[in-house]
Formats: sequence, C-alpha cells, structure tokens
Amino acid sequence: MKFGLKKVVFVMLLSAIASFAKPTVYILATGGTIAGSGSGALDSSYTSGTVTVDKLISAVPEINKIATIKGEQISNIGSQEMNNEVWLKLASRVNELLVNGNADGIVITHGTDTMEETAYFLNLVVKSDKPIVMVGAMRNSSSLSADGPLNLFNAVNVAIDKNSIGKGVVVVMNDEIHAAREVTKTNTTSVSTFKSPNSGKIGTVFYGKVKYYMNPIRKHTLNSDFDIANIKELPRVDIIYSHTNDNADFVNTALKNNAKGIISSGMGNGNPYPSVLNALFDGVKNGVIVVRDSRVGSGETTLNGEVDDDKYGFITSDNLNAQKARVLLMLALTKTNDKDKIAKIFETH
Ligand code: GLU
Repeated sequence: MKFGLKKVVFVMLLSAIASFAKPTVYILATGGTIAGSGSGALDSSYTSGTVTVDKLISAVPEINKIATIKGEQISNIGSQEMNNEVWLKLASRVNELLVNGNADGIVITHGTDTMEETAYFLNLVVKSDKPIVMVGAMRNSSSLSADGPLNLFNAVNVAIDKNSIGKGVVVVMNDEIHAAREVTKTNTTSVSTFKSPNSGKIGTVFYGKVKYYMNPIRKHTLNSDFDIANIKELPRVDIIYSHTNDNADFVNTALKNNAKGIISSGMGNGNPYPSVLNALFDGVKNGVIVVRDSRVGSGETTLNGEVDDDKYGFITSDNLNAQKARVLLMLALTKTNDKDKIAKIFETH
C-alpha cells in the first residue's frame, strides 16, 4: 500500500515535469468553416462558426501530447464578417500572450475567405518573433473527409517548431506553409486553395513533420514599422475594381464618403479606365492616397508603366494583391499622409 502511494506520487511528478517541458500553445478561435457544421456528411450547405474552441480542441486529442493547449474564443463568425474591431482585439491578445504571457506559440483558427488579410495584418502589427500560425478548413466538421482536424494538428506542430521562430505569421493549410504577405485564396472550394503566386510556399508539414525551404524577407513583426500598441483605429480605405466600359461612380462615392485611401484594382499592369483615372486624380488633388494595383492576381504593378504615376501623384502596390495593399495602406495612414513615405512602406513591407 505504502509502495503503491509512492509509485502514484512518482508518476504524478513525472507527468508534471513532462507537462512543464511541453511548449504552451494558445489556440485562438475566430470561426470559419473549421468551426462550421452541416446536417450531413455529404451536405454542401453548412453554417460557419457554430463549433466552439473546446470542441475543436477535443476533436484532435493528439495535440495534447505535444503541447500544453489552451483555448480562447475571440469570435465565432464567418470570416466574411471580419472587421477592424475583431482585428484589433485579436492582435492585442496575440501580442499580450506572446510578449508578456506564457505562450510559446499561437494558433489562430479562422475562416478561409479573409484569412490572408488577417494574417497580413497580424504579420505587420504583432511585436514578437514567436510562431503565429493561422489555420482553417475547406470542409466543415460534419463533412466526409473534413480537413480541419489534420490542418489543426499540423498547425500546432508548426507553432512548436523552432524553425517557425522569426518567420512572421504563417498560414498552414493542406500540408503547406505559406508566408502571410504572399498567401492568397485561389479557389472557392478546393482544399488546395491557398497559394503564394509570386513566391511559392515556404514550407511543408506532413502529419506534423515540419520542413522549411524559404524565409520571408520583407519587414514583419519585430522589424515592421507598425505596433498594435499604438493603433486604436484604422482609416477607411476602399478597393475599386476595374473593367471594360467602366465608370467613375464608385471612385466618386469613395471620395464623397471620406475614404483616406483608394486601392485601384486596375486592368493588366494596374490600368484604370480613362474616366476612373481622372476621378482618382481628383482624389489625389484632395489629399487621398491612391495606390495602383492589378486585378490580375500575380506580378508587380510597375511604377510609371502605361500610367504616368509621377504626373498623377499615384503610388503602386509592388506585387501585393488588392486586399493586402488595403491592409498595408490602412496601417501606413495611421502613421503618415506623406505619399513618398507611404511608397517606401510599400517597398519594404
Ligand atoms: N465564408 C466562411 C469563412 O470564411 C467559410 C469559408 C471557410 O472558412 O472556408 O469563414
């Protein structure tokens, strides 16, 4: 009996030591298909953001063997509902947990529609080099071959991998690791929807085995010009999509509604329709920052290509897509209205 007690105490001690040795990973849940459920395994209609963080965690018991897991519910929404308020709350919490808290890494579960925007926002404002991993799913939790559980297992493995330190925010989906600045959703329904069209993925994660092949080199996290501690609100920046036989109505509406910046998602190398070009020029004359971008989906929008940017006072987005250019312009406008300084920010972030 006496020996039995000693044995129990010894085993408890060992498991306490083992749990101290394990890294601590916080899973911050925001919603999306990974937290979605439908009425049947083959039912393609479902509702995002119905499964709580505790259920998400209990669906993948394997993660408890590799890390001390703590879950927090930040929101439970489809990511098409994502807004500045949730972004600021999420960024502050991530910062707090990594800088002053006991988190060794963070995993954020998120809808796939706007995951790339949240990833880039966090990549620019969080002040830590510890791993921050975003993950989602293309198939809801009730679906046959739901991809959420393995994606979550892989995400936790990436979050505890030493090589994830200093990479900024990464997106883990479908066995691939993508850098926040580069990744974009490219297919409405496929599990292989996330791609980095300009640079390719930076790594892979296969049943938890992490391999990196590249480092993101643009400024992020510790080296970024932005800090969530100094950001209380974000200015209005609109995206205006171009097409043949276009008109200036949307630009004029943006200007009337006091947009501080406009991302012009132009044709080809960022070319707007002539009447749109003139309306954008009116915006510049009224102090609005206009960033020329392209609707093509990859490649750089080059300065002074077919459009004389110097004459119109426009800047270009480098090779960011419109939704990422919008994130960066909003943040840039929290610091300055100087076009040349903002151009520099686009060259470096
Ligand atoms: N529209 C939903 C969202 O982005 C579902 C898409 C998904 O998560 O895959 O949250």
